[in-house]
Amino acid sequence: MMKMEKGIIELNGEKFYVEPLAKHTLTLTKIKKVYFTKKSKYQLIEVIESYDYGLGLYLDHSTQLSESDEYIYHEIFVHPAMLSHPNPKKILIIGGGDGGVLREVLKHPTVEKAVLVEIDEEVIKAVKKYLSFIPQNAFDDPRAKILIEDGVKYVNNTTEKYDVIFMDATDDIGPSVPLYKVEFYKAIRDILNDKGIFITQALGLEQHKGALEKIYFDLKRVFRIVDYYYIYVPSFCNRWGFVSASDQYNIMEIEKSELEKRFKNRKIKTKYYNPEVHIALQIMRKTIKLKI
Ligand code: SAM
Repeated sequence: MMKMEKGIIELNGEKFYVEPLAKHTLTLTKIKKVYFTKKSKYQLIEVIESYDYGLGLYLDHSTQLSESDEYIYHEIFVHPAMLSHPNPKKILIIGGGDGGVLREVLKHPTVEKAVLVEIDEEVIKAVKKYLSFIPQNAFDDPRAKILIEDGVKYVNNTTEKYDVIFMDATDDIGPSVPLYKVEFYKAIRDILNDKGIFITQALGLEQHKGALEKIYFDLKRVFRIVDYYYIYVPSFCNRWGFVSASDQYNIMEIEKSELEKRFKNRKIKTKYYNPEVHIALQIMRKTIKLKI
């Protein structure tokens, strides 16, 4: 097969963004405006507006989020784990420089401290300038602490312990490669409280075949309880996977009545997630059979 072209291309005088949808399939998205492109120390950063999905952040030619549906990804990533923990006070986010995960985490009034460790300061700068509707006021929340640091270094050196840890890193490319390793999952376990929950985005089911399985089975080597789910994200043109791990809680087995109680008590306002959707995730994940 010919080498696949990625990123911005011109066709008949119009600009398009080319991205893989699956191994042998590409998507072609018509671009309205290119706002920003910069090669940082770690990756190519682009902020582009497309006709169908609005403003979007792209890193190394891979969509990170889109204005039209970022709430689906961020809410479905954050609330299942946060509500499965009875009292999540200390939260760590590895990556997530767009601030979307942080924004959703801070909706939980139980949170006392949320530390975000992002390796690339240029991502945060671009988000603040062009995509401030993602973090909203999360970066300025007194409970939030933003560190510009490699997640691997932070996790290996910190003496802090966390109740919930999110890994919202790029898709196993560039600086995120060392994050998707058993060694790193062991280091994560060491900084989780006994009843803590770890959850990572687990890439596209169509775009990254086998990635969710690898993350699942690697985490199984470290944690007692590991489970997974997915949601369709229109601008990713993919079902997007998530894998959770804990020695105490299975976020895919929590009862609806408990979810409803916590969702109501914490007064969480969402556009997409609710306890019924959570139960739907629990059911829909069974459509995926993991190959051992
Ligand atoms: N939602 C996204 C997706 O679909 O892939 C991920 C969003 S977030 C922008 C990903 C961030 O992870 C990037 O800003 C990247 O710089 C950061 N990152 C990658 N490797 C990292 C590392 N080793 N430590 C900390 N942050 C890292």
